[in-house]
Amino acid sequence: MYENLPALKKPRVAVFELASCAGCQLQILNLEDELVDVLQLIEFAYFKEAMSNTSEDYDLALIEGAVTRASDEQKLLEIREKAAIVGTIGSCAYPVGIPGLKNSGDVEAASELVYGAKAALFPSVPVKPVDAVIDVDFHVLGCPIEKDEFLHTLTALLIGKKPPIPPYSVCVECRMKENVCAFDRGETCLGAVTRAGCGALCPTYGSRCYGCRGPADDPNEPSLEALLEKRGKTPEQIAADYALYNGYREGTAGRREAPDG
Ligand code: SF4
Ligand code: SF4
Ligand code: SF4
Repeated sequence: MYENLPALKKPRVAVFELASCAGCQLQILNLEDELVDVLQLIEFAYFKEAMSNTSEDYDLALIEGAVTRASDEQKLLEIREKAAIVGTIGSCAYPVGIPGLKNSGDVEAASELVYGAKAALFPSVPVKPVDAVIDVDFHVLGCPIEKDEFLHTLTALLIGKKPPIPPYSVCVECRMKENVCAFDRGETCLGAVTRAGCGALCPTYGSRCYGCRGPADDPNEPSLEALLEKRGKTPEQIAADYALYNGYREGTAGRREAPDG
């Protein structure tokens, strides 16, 4: 990520979609109480989910979705060339989210499962996050993104600051909320290695962290994996746990390998 972002005065914003469910774009449109104020400060140049007019003239590009086709890479390179600032919105774009599940098996078999006899018409590649293809200046994390976090990101950009992102794990927020830990309920959880910022949303409502915000800084995965194995998870089950949202690892042909052991 770049350290110094240019301050943007009423930036022209383009919202692009790769492989995704469009839920993070909808979160922007769900800013019902704030959208009128937001539109005093930015202008949408391209936002297919919201409007039909399009423009190739934009300062800030927001990208939702994962890279799943070779043509996506060319599209990203063109966007990076045009935009002063590029950010991602949602887990599909980073760390790779639900589309990354395709990396858990054979990519061609996945295409045939979805497209059947017409699979050859839709050439597919192992899934990558956006920042595996182009430099990205910031990530708005989550599945879907949090509205407040999106607004804080916009505010930072408008004053020329790097959008804040917590370096620590979901466990920190979870302990501050005094939640009963999933491990103490006999379950497992990826909160120890996952970046905070959601307020430990899932454990707070009785579930567990699935890792949707990607890795925290310096995640101690070997330690968590040892604990998960002690709780009876096989290396394959642990790999499947990670693969739900973190199915991409650089240098592994887009596939997260099962840990040793
Ligand atoms: S991150 Fe989640 S909500 Fe956002 S586009 Fe991907 S699947 Fe949809
Ligand atoms: S429930 Fe998950 S996030 Fe909360 S403290 Fe336990 S391991 Fe950490
Ligand atoms: S608790 Fe984990 S899975 Fe749930 S929103 Fe936070 S990071 Fe995502």
